[in-house]
Amino acid sequence: MPTIAIIGGGLAGAKTAEALREQDFDGDVQLFCAEEHLPYERPPLSKEFLAGKKTLPDFTVHHPDWYRDNRIDLHPGTRVAAIDTGAHTLTLPDGTEMGYDSAVLATGSRSRTIDIPGADAAGVHTLRTIDDARALDEAITEGSRVGIIGGGWIGLEVAAGARERGAQVTIVEAASTTLLGSLGAEVGAVFADLHRAHGVDLRTSTGVAEILVDSGRACGLRLSDDAEVPADIVLVAVGAISNVELARDAGLDVADGGVVVDASLRSSDPDVYAVGDIANAQHPTLGRRVRTEHWANALNQPAVAVRNILGKPTEYTNLPYFFTDQYDLGMEYAGLADPGSPVVFRGDVAGREFLVFWLDDDQRVRAGMQVNIWDQLDGIKALIAAGTPVDAAALADPAVALDTLA
Ligand SMILES: Cc1cc2nc3c(=O)[nH]c(=O)nc-3n(C[C@H](O)[C@H](O)[C@H](O)COP(=O)(O)OP(=O)(O)OC[C@H]3O[C@@H](n4cnc5c(N)ncnc54)[C@H](O)[C@@H]3O)c2cc1C
Repeated sequence: MPTIAIIGGGLAGAKTAEALREQDFDGDVQLFCAEEHLPYERPPLSKEFLAGKKTLPDFTVHHPDWYRDNRIDLHPGTRVAAIDTGAHTLTLPDGTEMGYDSAVLATGSRSRTIDIPGADAAGVHTLRTIDDARALDEAITEGSRVGIIGGGWIGLEVAAGARERGAQVTIVEAASTTLLGSLGAEVGAVFADLHRAHGVDLRTSTGVAEILVDSGRACGLRLSDDAEVPADIVLVAVGAISNVELARDAGLDVADGGVVVDASLRSSDPDVYAVGDIANAQHPTLGRRVRTEHWANALNQPAVAVRNILGKPTEYTNLPYFFTDQYDLGMEYAGLADPGSPVVFRGDVAGREFLVFWLDDDQRVRAGMQVNIWDQLDGIKALIAAGTPVDAAALADPAVALDTLA
């Protein structure tokens, strides 16, 4: 009976197990999860969970009966220590070895930390796991002062949740605006305005030199301009680091923070695949490698990896996709663009109901985003897929249907 080992118990790991059974794999499935929890989805941690609208069971991928009914050997609290690709074995934390025929790496990411004085004080948080989210949820109350280091997605989403709870929020962002590295200056500024309009004290082009500490607890931030910001709770939200050490130590090719895989998600070892945040995958239509830390890859790549494991050659062709919810702004983004490329807005930006397109030098749409509009994503994707130059004035005009431009 062949054995498939899945290393990493996040969404990508759980979806790999699901795809194996859906695609009628009848052998052994071993799923190793470093966390003690059943695999769960992370996007709600900074959104509905903090808003009190969802609890862990609502975003647990599968409930315990599902693992039993589908004969998935789940190993919670088990961090795989090593892979020997030559011997086809995994080393478990207690030193025992387990054989596999194929392995799927889904080890995801962890929060990046910062090395400044005070970073290890009580009251300093990061947000990656349900345990982190519970700690933040307990700490943030009406009137508490929250200092957020980093105006990226997680920092902004937590800021929105904290403001909705009546906390005072300061965000300190080193770049000139929020989300600069993802969306560029003009679209990033839309999010900066949104937060300022909701009472966030947003300090841009400013670093944090020190987390101020009183009796072992964080009590504020000292900024690079020497200003001091009082804070009872500090969230360090400065991005994620992918967990590629296991793959690297196993001798697999690793580049740009990800396990190098081809379009079938197979690594440099033919019996090892990688999915989710750690997959640095060749994208057949974009013609380049893509590694994104997006929920959609963790959701959709596993079925493709499994098809290939089971001998049905398939490529992963989905365009990158992500979403966010902050206050009353909901957004979806598809494609991949240099955030510094020219943008075209379409619709009511001030009223926060609009589309944005990122164009390349040849006037082709590389990425697009819909904000509080929910029926244009297919049109955006069609424009990206068409890959033909578009007329920017027509693109900006809501009276011109997108499908006439593709
Ligand atoms: C707070 C938050 C909000 C987010 N919001 C959004 C959003 O709105 N939209 C969006 O597109 N994306 C969002 N993301 C990103 C999205 O959640 C990730 O892209 C997704 O979780 C990736 O799934 P994964 O399974 O690849 O990795 P992970 O979810 O990181 O899971 C990997 C798991 O593997 C475990 N592991 C690591 N090493 C080992 C080992 N050696 N042995 C066993 N287990 C191991 C880890 O502990 C972890 O539990 C958010 C992320 C966070 C943290």
